[in-house]
Amino acid sequence: MMSDTVAQSAGVQRYVEKAERMLKAHSRYVAEMRKLKFDTIAVHGLYSVQESIEKNQGSVIEPIYMSTSEAYRDSDELEAALAYLIPSWVYTRIHNPTIHYLETTLALMEGYGCDCETSALATSSGMSAVFIATEPLLVRKTGSEKMNFVATAQCYGGTYQQFSARRMQEQGIEVRWVVHAHDTEEWASLIDENTRFVYGEMPSNPGQSIFDIAGVAEVAHRAGVPLIVDSTVATPALMRPLQHGADIVVHSSSKSMTMSGFGIGGAVISRNNIVSNVDNPEMKENFAIYAKLLPFRDYGPCISPFNAGITLSELKTLRCKMEMVSRSTQKVAEFLESHPKVEQVHYLGLPSDPLHGLASKYMKLVDSEGPDGKPMNLFGHLMSFRVRGSAQDTRDVFDRFHRIFRATDLGRIKSVATIPAISTHLQQGEEARRMADVPPTLIRLCVGGEHPDDIINDLDQALAVVQ
Ligand SMILES: *Cc1c(COP(=O)(O)O)cnc(C)c1O
Repeated sequence: MMSDTVAQSAGVQRYVEKAERMLKAHSRYVAEMRKLKFDTIAVHGLYSVQESIEKNQGSVIEPIYMSTSEAYRDSDELEAALAYLIPSWVYTRIHNPTIHYLETTLALMEGYGCDCETSALATSSGMSAVFIATEPLLVRKTGSEKMNFVATAQCYGGTYQQFSARRMQEQGIEVRWVVHAHDTEEWASLIDENTRFVYGEMPSNPGQSIFDIAGVAEVAHRAGVPLIVDSTVATPALMRPLQHGADIVVHSSSKSMTMSGFGIGGAVISRNNIVSNVDNPEMKENFAIYAKLLPFRDYGPCISPFNAGITLSELKTLRCKMEMVSRSTQKVAEFLESHPKVEQVHYLGLPSDPLHGLASKYMKLVDSEGPDGKPMNLFGHLMSFRVRGSAQDTRDVFDRFHRIFRATDLGRIKSVATIPAISTHLQQGEEARRMADVPPTLIRLCVGGEHPDDIINDLDQALAVVQ
């Protein structure tokens, strides 16, 4: 995004030429890394031996730069940097080396196996990622312009609030809810010429509703609008929506991506050249970088370099952690399915789940192909179940958990559970809860890294309270 409004002195020009050489080397290195396997990309990102030796005192692990700003050699470099003529950290709200290492790693991981180039933007939280991923698509040319967007009704409670309370009620932007996400026709019927984007959470938290990404992407693209997917629950270890035609992916990296639970964060990852009916060529060409340089800079929801460093560290082992917790969750779900005090288990990994077939199309452990060339289906660690009893019975079971933590959290290395109707989905009211299928007997459980037998025993003793 080079600005031509600045008259360039010879000094500025020297910095620009130096930056161009650096950017070429950067592109070559991206191309080299894109040929490697997922785990290698996750472990190394773009942090090369050369980067370590020449720029980071030989530090093997990416350093956490807490500094708020970067100093310049002279006025020419300062001018070139502030005019966005050369890449530079400037100020940590805008950019920072540690955040850069995180963003470039995320772009590679989410773009793995995708024929497109990708870019990423790290944000302060998942909610700010949802905001920044949608804001550039919701600009009005005139004050009265009508616009709408289409989104899955089954979504994270915070996203529901951002869309309904902030976007619809306060800003007058119509939200059209998709109730049966697996029905691609329903998405198609809601899109019209005023639609700016379609948005789906997959799998949704807590309901695990899913949709046919490729089918919905096709419907969206036919109407000239992008598909945005919140892929927090799956993580790039199990699913990469860009590969199936999505334009933009958002994450709450606070969840499974940072399984330790040591930091809130979010991310927006886009393919180059997204489809959009908004007349903004720079935005379409590289959405994540456009967002980073302009709206994100102006709204300011940056991640702390410390949180970025922690997330980056966690990403290195994402694949094996997701494999472990997914296998355990499968075991726990099978146990609960056969339990007499459980009315119903929702887990995409259960063959009895009506969405199991569609989920199997998209949720596969990356690089798990066996000798037959087939990848292994794994479905993550979010599940939920309905207690066979009243709302009070459900609270009693919940209160008896001994090892499982009661918390409105998920994606943890420790097993956590909540009752969505009285926590994450409390604010949105009964009708929205009905639409999102969140009854008061539903317990959301996210199985951690403990031995699954110990979690099964904890559930079993708690369920014994139901008469
Ligand atoms: C938690 C969550 C968010 C919001 O993320 P924060 O990091 O808590 O702001 C968005 N989407 C999904 C699916 C989530 O689970």
